[in-house]
Amino acid sequence: MPLIYDFMPVSLSDYPGVVACTVFLPGCNFRCPYCHNGPLVMRNPEGKVAEGTLFEYLEKRKNLVDGVCVTGGEPTLWGDLGDFLEKLKKRGLKVKLDTNGSQPEVIKELLHKGLVDYVAVDIKAPPEKYSLFTKYKEHVDGVLESVELVKASSVDYELRTTVHERVLSLEDIKAIARWLSGAKMYVLQGYRYSEGVLDPEFCGKKPCDKAFLERAKEEISEHFGEVVIRS
Ligand code: SF4
Repeated sequence: MPLIYDFMPVSLSDYPGVVACTVFLPGCNFRCPYCHNGPLVMRNPEGKVAEGTLFEYLEKRKNLVDGVCVTGGEPTLWGDLGDFLEKLKKRGLKVKLDTNGSQPEVIKELLHKGLVDYVAVDIKAPPEKYSLFTKYKEHVDGVLESVELVKASSVDYELRTTVHERVLSLEDIKAIARWLSGAKMYVLQGYRYSEGVLDPEFCGKKPCDKAFLERAKEEISEHFGEVVIRS
């Protein structure tokens, strides 16, 4: 079973339309300078929460919590993730997976086995700018493949990009939109600074400009079923 770094008992925002418990699995193969989960990503994977504690909580709150958002870090690095998700599904819980998309073979298997109900894939940048987030080309190839898998699947999904005008230009966002074109849901997430960001200089302390997000949305809407701004 994956180690559980921590869990948030109830979240109304991590899983669209579902009252969810959010579970954080440690370790990540990317090093996004704007990552808010520094301690979780940098630390050698170590579990802080016993699996039994999580399942006891879910049992006790089964009338309140309808789903689990499994996030990280990067959950798909855990080889036995499928066993963990299966345990959640057996309890009648909906499962959302947050992923950077670098492990398409894992996503493919989870989709095939029906172990996820919603997948959120982070899209960091146009493919040629991914070197800001990972130095491995196979990660980028993985994201390209994961996008196609998720788009072709029958589960709910979102493709989402954290945006700050210091990092991604309007042209970059338009290039992402051409790449992802035809996806049903794309989310522009405005960056916000917080303590613990891996590299505070990367985006600076000012949040993403709202007018920039609105302009980006306007420019790319034709490519998607729906474009949502979260800021
Ligand atoms: S992929 Fe996500 S968890 Fe990993 S470093 Fe980037 S923002 Fe952090």
